[in-house]
Amino acid sequence: MSDIPLRYIKGIGEKREELLKKLDIYSLYDLVHFFPRTYLDFTALTPISQMIPGETYAFKAIVGYTPVENKIRTGMTIYKTMVTDGKAGVRINIFNSKYLADSLVQGEEYIFYGRVTASGGSLEMSNPLVQTYDKDTGLKPVYPLTAGLSSNILCKIIENALDIYLKDDIPLPVPEKIRSEYSLAHKQFALRNIHFPKSRNDLEISKKSLIFEELLIFQTAMLRLKSRNKGKTSLTVGSDYSSEFMSTLPFELTSAQKRVIAECIKDMQTAVPMNRLVQGDVGSGKTVVAASLIYTAAKNKMQSVLMAPTEILATQHFATLKNLIKDENITCELLTGSVSAKKKADIKERLKKGEIDYIVGTHALLTDNTEFHNLGLVVTDEQHRFGVKQRGALIQKGNNPHTLVMSATPIPRTLSLIIYGDLDVSIIDELPKGRQKISTFAVDTTYHQRMYGFIKKTIDSGNQAYIVCPAVEEAENDITSAVKYAEDLAKKEFKDYKVGLLHGKMKPKDKDKIMSAFQEGDIQLLVSTTVIEVGVDVPNATVMVIENAERFGLSQLHQLRGRVGRGKDKSYCVLVSDAQGESARARLEIMCKTNNGFAIADKDLELRGPGEFFGSRQHGLPEMKIASFTENMDTVRQTNAAARKILAEDPTLSKPENAGLKTAIKNLLIKQSENKLSFN
Ligand code: ADP
Ligand code: MG
Repeated sequence: MSDIPLRYIKGIGEKREELLKKLDIYSLYDLVHFFPRTYLDFTALTPISQMIPGETYAFKAIVGYTPVENKIRTGMTIYKTMVTDGKAGVRINIFNSKYLADSLVQGEEYIFYGRVTASGGSLEMSNPLVQTYDKDTGLKPVYPLTAGLSSNILCKIIENALDIYLKDDIPLPVPEKIRSEYSLAHKQFALRNIHFPKSRNDLEISKKSLIFEELLIFQTAMLRLKSRNKGKTSLTVGSDYSSEFMSTLPFELTSAQKRVIAECIKDMQTAVPMNRLVQGDVGSGKTVVAASLIYTAAKNKMQSVLMAPTEILATQHFATLKNLIKDENITCELLTGSVSAKKKADIKERLKKGEIDYIVGTHALLTDNTEFHNLGLVVTDEQHRFGVKQRGALIQKGNNPHTLVMSATPIPRTLSLIIYGDLDVSIIDELPKGRQKISTFAVDTTYHQRMYGFIKKTIDSGNQAYIVCPAVEEAENDITSAVKYAEDLAKKEFKDYKVGLLHGKMKPKDKDKIMSAFQEGDIQLLVSTTVIEVGVDVPNATVMVIENAERFGLSQLHQLRGRVGRGKDKSYCVLVSDAQGESARARLEIMCKTNNGFAIADKDLELRGPGEFFGSRQHGLPEMKIASFTENMDTVRQTNAAARKILAEDPTLSKPENAGLKTAIKNLLIKQSENKLSFN
């Protein structure tokens, strides 16, 4: 039933069918699951005279005259009119939408919805939502629009669609037992009321129920994927060489490192390919874990790849691995964009023949036509810069190789379930012995002079320092300010020192040049935007200053701070902020108190919510119809628990009560393979 052609629904002809496709609506099912963006509350209309500029309102008014067209410059048209509720008026500006302008008829009454602003003493509203006035409804749905399909038309179409859809037994993805356990509405009720709610209460429970349903389907799908997405691999590691590797190290591994290595080796010893995420705080020693696995793979005659997000990190990892894996029979190469064409060709030839045991590189490795002889292990560093797709691309090159993803971003468990749902997770929750705590201070800008003095003393004693200025990398202003700040410091305060500047708008080659100079010690003070955040290792740097620290999230501050404290010398982090707000002060206070990235991530999530938590890092959560990972965290937790319970009792979802859920998952995964569900 749900796949009857759209055209059979009253109100839809060939033309509208095409328009609906633009909204991703292909079936009756899609149509009834196309949810309103918001609702106009006709019970709460505001008189124009009571409106405050800057606020959003719904109000009822009569159109004074047919909108007048004004062309302001090529390609830009404003239609202007004035509407009034009898006592006061609002100027209406409609940008570029002849269609919306034409829909306003002089003398007719409509509901307008939008944000009012003040302009030259009168109120103005630009591109308002417009609805015809309908006395019967309390709450009216407002749908996402596409040109040529008004919300009103969609309303009618969806009403017709619901009548057809709800006539039959509809699939119920949420098993009855779960529905009653969580006090959810029946799907019939929820669908009807999400579109045309009789009351706020009805709307709330319907929304809650549909959000629950969507998240339950998603979470169950993830858990199913995890247990099922395990093709066979012939690359079973016969012998575990990790103890042999450990005995060659100049230091003792932490017990957390040993545990994680054991977890990985155990994975690699089965015929199911490893698919594991290793999370470890900055400096927890993830690279050694990778080295141990690469060593074991090589000893078992398998090739390995380690991918890093930038050339400089790849180069650094290569040096580290060469230093850690001292076995002369194990061969390795570095493959990055700046390797000469001739050398590249040679490396690829040897890779293909199996003469190279492990290779370190950037995604140049992926895009190029690299072939392997016997690729057994793929390690990627800083996963969120790559994404599942690229990882997949490399996996294709082997015969289901084992994969390990290393992430230095501590992520609270609930969230890693969402983002890395298809991966097993290991956590290195311990720092190597003897690591000194990075002493952290929060100061205001009156401390600048003293701080500069402190930096000079640091440099004079042979160490190096960072100063980070806040930057949304794209925003010109911030970059200008970082540039200007660096120039000022170089000219005045630090004129006797070697100052370098790094920002996101620089060419990769120039960035690398600066970073190398800093690594070599040729730059003593590096002024930078947040580009240095990505895992660069300069053990000689011992001071990290972060300007306008209140602008960063806790997790980001923690990442930045992790650039120091990597060597034997005592390190410091200075957070500079004039923010007076209580929450800003509280956040900086947390930074001063703890060095534990996971504790900080939890706090960050608690204080800012997942939206902000992810916002700046752009993890790219999957797109949802109605649920939001930023607003429905509690439901995320609930549905995770529910999904686990369902699968524990019925792992293959074969019981009749789970049939609806099974079908829903199947449909979701079809969409996923059509690339709808992308994880950055
Ligand atoms: P991250 O987890 O941030 O990638 P690295 O792997 O770069 O950390 O390790 C940070 C530093 O700590 C490196 O210099 C590494 O050699 C050193 N290291 C790693 N494990 C240990 C250990 N168990 N004991 C002492 N030093 C260690
Ligand atoms: Mg690292």
